[in-house]
Amino acid sequence: MKILVPVKRVIDYNVKIRVKPDGSDVELSNVKMSMNPFDEISVEEALRLKEAGLAQEVVVVSIGPAKAEETLRNALAMGADRAILVETDDTVEPLAVAKILKSVAEAERPGLIIVGKQAIDDDSNQTGQMLAALLNWAQGTFASKIVIEDGKATVIREVDGGLQTISIKLPAVVTTDLRLNEPRYASLPNIMKAKKKPLDKTSPSAFGVWTAPRLKVLKTEEPSGRKAGIKVKSVAELVEKLKSEAGVL
Ligand code: AMP
Repeated sequence: MKILVPVKRVIDYNVKIRVKPDGSDVELSNVKMSMNPFDEISVEEALRLKEAGLAQEVVVVSIGPAKAEETLRNALAMGADRAILVETDDTVEPLAVAKILKSVAEAERPGLIIVGKQAIDDDSNQTGQMLAALLNWAQGTFASKIVIEDGKATVIREVDGGLQTISIKLPAVVTTDLRLNEPRYASLPNIMKAKKKPLDKTSPSAFGVWTAPRLKVLKTEEPSGRKAGIKVKSVAELVEKLKSEAGVL
């Protein structure tokens, strides 16, 4: 079985996000970019399935600017076999990403596509679901465990109030949640080796996908700051304030 893993280049999760002075977007220049953390979890899971003998090849794909090659090289350094860069400088929204991924899936014919549950920049949480619908494949979203057996995937899903176990037929789309695994770090020798691994470049137009955004961002604002807290001198004062000021007792 082949596993396809989409990886998105996003602002590193440690970076303090700043809004551009004109409020048109967040500041992207001179900001550290990394692989979307949920996609690191997807790559790790694909590698573990390969190491367990359940997959033969792990192919990573990114849709983004030329610099997304760094993100793909990082996935190759973790252990992926091959990479595809669908190069574009446009902002590509989830539906267009899903359409491109559908075409890639039709060409590559993977048995499983492991997608992050959400990209931490747009927080859309849409691509995996749209991709499964476009391919007419089964989907298991927010996975905290994946077991592959007899052409089926058993997926434990993180749902409100607990865990849900489902069984889906392969080929399928699974989206990853935080508790699925802890991604490995790429070792220096593997980073060097990754430079020589195959990376194909193509463009959205090669798949006939129109990437122009459908949404218009009207305004981007920083969240309002939290009010400073206060210290109380006694439990009695705390109870009094909870009653009279917070109104929660
Ligand atoms: P979203 O629906 O935008 O929150 O993204 C969910 C997941 O879709 C991400 O974690 C990635 O696995 C995948 N994805 C979204 N955008 C891209 C992209 N430009 N390139 C590759 N994968 C992407």
